[in-house]
Amino acid sequence: IKRNHRRSYQFYSLMMREAAYEKLSMENDLKLALANHEFYLVYQPQVSMQGYQLSGLEALIRWQHPSRGLVSPKHFIPVLEEMGLIEEVGLWVVREALKQYQIWLAAYPIQHVSISINLSAVQLRNPKLTDMLQKEVKASNVLCKQVIFEVTESVMVDEDVRIRKELNTLQENGCHFALDDYGTGYSNLAYIDQFNLSELKIDQAFIQKMQNHATDRLIIHHTIEMAKALGMKVVAEGVEMASQMALLSAYPEIFIQGYYFDRPLSAEQMTQRLETRADL
Ligand code: C2E
Ligand code: CA
Ligand code: CA
Ligand code: CA
Repeated sequence: IKRNHRRSYQFYSLMMREAAYEKLSMENDLKLALANHEFYLVYQPQVSMQGYQLSGLEALIRWQHPSRGLVSPKHFIPVLEEMGLIEEVGLWVVREALKQYQIWLAAYPIQHVSISINLSAVQLRNPKLTDMLQKEVKASNVLCKQVIFEVTESVMVDEDVRIRKELNTLQENGCHFALDDYGTGYSNLAYIDQFNLSELKIDQAFIQKMQNHATDRLIIHHTIEMAKALGMKVVAEGVEMASQMALLSAYPEIFIQGYYFDRPLSAEQMTQRLETRADL
């Protein structure tokens, strides 16, 4: 027993060392990624339930590393946050998204199409963030009201008073905020209402379970009703199947983002989509 114990300990410590090494190596790679232009953005369309009109684009970051290949943001965003690099990369995301969006605005009749940009909780804790965002939007030719910053509720629960003030400054300038991943946290909409968010994104976990679980359908129903009462726009995320669309079509006022309509598209693919289907 003792020997086995020791062996498993050695194995465990080897794994720990490998994990630590892998983390260090990823950190080193991430330090170089911006300078080496390994990050790029993809854009996922959102469409209205009524008429399937293109209503928005969400910018999503991608990291293409020469030997790692394409790394998921779910893996590297937390590392960037921990390293203190998320601010710099986050700023790049804002600039790049606004730059690309402006190009599309100039070329296609899409004034009604908004651009959504994700902000990490770590970025929101920086008291200089709102000034920075305001400056970036001003420097572009994009109107604040065409921009939606996506945040998760974790931020609000932590530091509500200060964050509320920060968000308000940008909101006074017309910028919008969306609550991302709704349903994965603990806060209720009455609480969230204090932040004057314009949009609520129902987490894809609910959408994926809604066909088989009456409870999830009920939660979605009440979430949409409450968001409507609070004057919020609702986006259902992760819609993949016609059966999900059939259930959601009971809510003609909502918006849909998911593989059923579009996967996230490269800037070139998005341009192609706008070129061939300017109506959508
Ligand atoms: P998110 O903000 O909830 O973004 C939606 C995610 O769902 C995206 O994953 C998108 O590709 C995926 N998705 C969209 N439709 C479907 C569908 O029908 N089925 C399925 N299975 N998935 C769908 P992605 O691009 O891998 O991003 C993962 C997460 O990484 C994002 O979740 C967001 O939290 C974070 N992220 C991505 N880009 C950025 C960024 O620029 N800044 C920050 N701070 N976080 C980012
Ligand atoms: Ca998002
Ligand atoms: Ca609180
Ligand atoms: Ca989400």
